[in-house]
Amino acid sequence: MIFRQLFDAESSTYTYLVGEEGTRQAVLIDPVLEQVERDLRLVDELGLVLTHVLDTHVHADHVTASGVLRERTHCTVVGGVGGAACANVQVRHGDSVRVGPLTFQVLATPGHTDDSVSYLLGDRVFTGDALLVRGNGRTDFQNGDAGQLYDSITRVLFALPDATRVYPAHDYKGHTVTSIGEETRHNPRLAHADREAFIHIMENLHLPQPKKIDIAVPANRACGRAASPPQGA
Ligand code: FE
Repeated sequence: MIFRQLFDAESSTYTYLVGEEGTRQAVLIDPVLEQVERDLRLVDELGLVLTHVLDTHVHADHVTASGVLRERTHCTVVGGVGGAACANVQVRHGDSVRVGPLTFQVLATPGHTDDSVSYLLGDRVFTGDALLVRGNGRTDFQNGDAGQLYDSITRVLFALPDATRVYPAHDYKGHTVTSIGEETRHNPRLAHADREAFIHIMENLHLPQPKKIDIAVPANRACGRAASPPQGA
């Protein structure tokens, strides 16, 4: 398997390229609009053909490249049910996305947003903003729900084997990867906090709104192809 972790410095977003050596089919997970040329060049240089884009959720902090990539490569855009209406396939818990011999299993992990999904590929899980390295996504917009996120992380993600490698959609401190075992032991919001304590933490973060939220959310519901501010904004 070909695996690359790519980074967008402006939004601190990780994009993942997963390719299959036999069929040369490839997937981009959470691609960023401003990085389309970088990503397509890498796909080309590695002799791959982009067949799927998997978004983990409708992002608020950057615009997805899914729509542009679909126009350029005719790939299939996949997202969680209730998220981007423009997706070719809306997946729910228990679904699978097959890319040649690779199977991405869909895990519903709502709470950061109500459409958030994680994709499990063997011993790797792409968690979007549900579970980050020593952190988790915020829960104060886009139908976020701290209790729901606690349940998604502790019942769905922490049920995976400890050795499962966790690849998040963002990092702000220089980490690149973690594992389920590491997060169960060391995640500061989860390792020693019960559900009520977690909800209390999340309800008292008082974070500023993401700079791009008014542009990014409507754009991402259209796969990044309507990246203009809403009327009157
Ligand atoms: Fe997000």
